[in-house]
Amino acid sequence: MPELPEVETVVRGLREALPGRCIVSVRLGKTDFIDDPAALESDLPGNRITGVRRHGKFVVVELEARAGAAASACLLVHLGMTGQLTTGRADTPAAPHTHVFFALDDGQELRYTDIRRFGRMVLASEGLRERVLGPLGLDPVEAGERDFCERLRGRRARIKALLLDQRVFSGMGNIYTDESLWRARIHPKRIAASLKEAELARLYRAVGDILREAIRLRGSSVSDYVDAKGERGEYQMRHRVYQRNGRKCHRCGALIRRVIVAGRSSYFCPRCQPAPRGRKRVRRQRQLKIKKAPARMKKPA
Ligand SMILES: [Zn+2]
Repeated sequence: MPELPEVETVVRGLREALPGRCIVSVRLGKTDFIDDPAALESDLPGNRITGVRRHGKFVVVELEARAGAAASACLLVHLGMTGQLTTGRADTPAAPHTHVFFALDDGQELRYTDIRRFGRMVLASEGLRERVLGPLGLDPVEAGERDFCERLRGRRARIKALLLDQRVFSGMGNIYTDESLWRARIHPKRIAASLKEAELARLYRAVGDILREAIRLRGSSVSDYVDAKGERGEYQMRHRVYQRNGRKCHRCGALIRRVIVAGRSSYFCPRCQPAPRGRKRVRRQRQLKIKKAPARMKKPA
């Protein structure tokens, strides 16, 4: 948390307020999540913001190339677990745990608030931007079906672990991974190589549909997430498995369960998403029945 839909929502909000604005001054509180706080304070004032976009779960604030500079820099912000990036009037009181204040030339302020400070902020040159963003995988919203399936086909890892791996796909976290696997009726512990082509195609559609729907509803507010205006998202009302253990599956009525996969809590429906071991056991039981059948027939009626 926040994941792709939440970061996309924040980016869309910031895009309404930031492009064209000049950063007048920078004020910092706690700085342990900032790569080089001194550089942020000294180099950022005077920079004009040209755009805001999303790369995986990073917010990328593009800055105008300065005279004499070979390439433009950008401000990269990762919201971590509880980061919030909001804009508002500079004279409004700051929320607790607000650690960065960017004063803008129109009297507004861009603020970064983060209770747990697992986020990251870095003023990045072209080279550093490449080092941070370069290793990130395919964007699951923009990916075509062929590229998406190609990343998973034949991989000897659990499907949930691959979906969470930011080098494979960038932007997915625990919520949207679990929701997508439920919609595609795939157990989180399945090995990717065991997925049939029809299952890969179903997963591709599920991931894209769920992420787009979540963006439309401005993300899921399960803990601290708010958009750039400080408002909560609505997609948490549509969650089908995430944090619903012990409650009924919307599709079949079985009770949702929780298991640990890839070190993370994973929610799934034991009936809609058959476990890999369960699939083998069913096959074995069928074989045993075939062997036992003649013996039973000899018994007196
Ligand atoms: Zn079910």
